Amino acid sequence: MIDKLSRRDVVGGAGAGVLGVAATAAPAFAKDAPTTGAASTAAPFEDPTSKYPKPPFERQTQPWPGLASKMNPPPDHGEKSYKGSGRLAGRKALITGGDSGMGRAAAIAFAREGADVAINYLPAEEEDARQVIDLIKAEGRKGLAIPGDLKDENFCKQLVQQAVDGLGGLDIVVNNAARQQTRASIMDVTTEDFDATMKTNVYAPFWIIKAALPHLKPGSSIIGTSSEQATDPSPELYDYAQTKAATTNYVRSLAKQLGPKGIRVNAVAPGPIWTPLQVSGGATMEKLEKFGGATPLGRPGQPAELGSIYVQLAANDASFSTGQVYGAMGGGGLP
Ligand code: NAD
Ligand code: MG
Repeated sequence: MIDKLSRRDVVGGAGAGVLGVAATAAPAFAKDAPTTGAASTAAPFEDPTSKYPKPPFERQTQPWPGLASKMNPPPDHGEKSYKGSGRLAGRKALITGGDSGMGRAAAIAFAREGADVAINYLPAEEEDARQVIDLIKAEGRKGLAIPGDLKDENFCKQLVQQAVDGLGGLDIVVNNAARQQTRASIMDVTTEDFDATMKTNVYAPFWIIKAALPHLKPGSSIIGTSSEQATDPSPELYDYAQTKAATTNYVRSLAKQLGPKGIRVNAVAPGPIWTPLQVSGGATMEKLEKFGGATPLGRPGQPAELGSIYVQLAANDASFSTGQVYGAMGGGGLP
């Protein structure tokens, strides 16, 4: 059995095992089965507690929606580290919020796994988006930049159509974009705030999935980005947190509805991750200074630590995973 495991299985398995599992799994496997050549491909042993920056972080704010390139320290989206092994060869993906954060990590990982990728973002994020498109193209894949505001139903429909036309089809849809603005009290949440959060986080995935569904063949995958906020909401994220509960919920209901059609629906549920969302109104300065320090790993996650989860949920070998919420919280909470 072990002899039959190919190098791809080893590399793919390691890629899927985020949260530090990869680093320990590969050497253990290499010891058990030295004949597979795994030893030569084993990743360097890494301690997840010291792998990335820890708090205290410098206080910093950017006008919403923020740019990854202006953060200190700069986030890691896997630009230098993600290695593909053909897991998504020939696939065609649309990722909202693909310019930065988790969406960018997914875009880089998807392209390195052989997928063509369209990303959506806001016009103000063109600089971040350009870097992502360049990285996708550097892999010899199609990279499509489609800026626009997801709060607009017509734009959501056009976005899907442009992705389908530009990529020549669609089989992975990642609804990842979100609005998060911290407000100490419900009394500070305006109707405009509430509406913008609902439109971005709840309506847009609804509009995008409806537009995409006619194009999705059996084997396609829909992925939402939920949050630990879905089940353990912060007091100052009244509107945002409930949209994440809605995300987890739609993933579970749609998985049941679309299962018989062979379309899988899953979510990734991050804990505190170092992204522009947090420095452009998503967190208070007090929270930002200590960001991620309360997790058992003692630091926030980096988007790069979640890229392989999106790959795993989209890949054919996760064919029995649907309606699942894959947590990446650094040790706390339940997805
Ligand atoms: P991010 O700022 O890098 O990504 C969010 C993206 O949403 C932006 O890049 C922007 O392009 C997009 N966006 C927002 N409003 C939009 C609109 N009206 N139209 C078009 N695009 C719009 O931050 P991130 O943290 O990577 O966020 C990605 C996902 O991760 C979100 O769903 C967020 O809720 C979730 N999440 C983040 C954390 C965290 O700690 N960073 C934790 C849990 C969940
Ligand atoms: Mg962005």
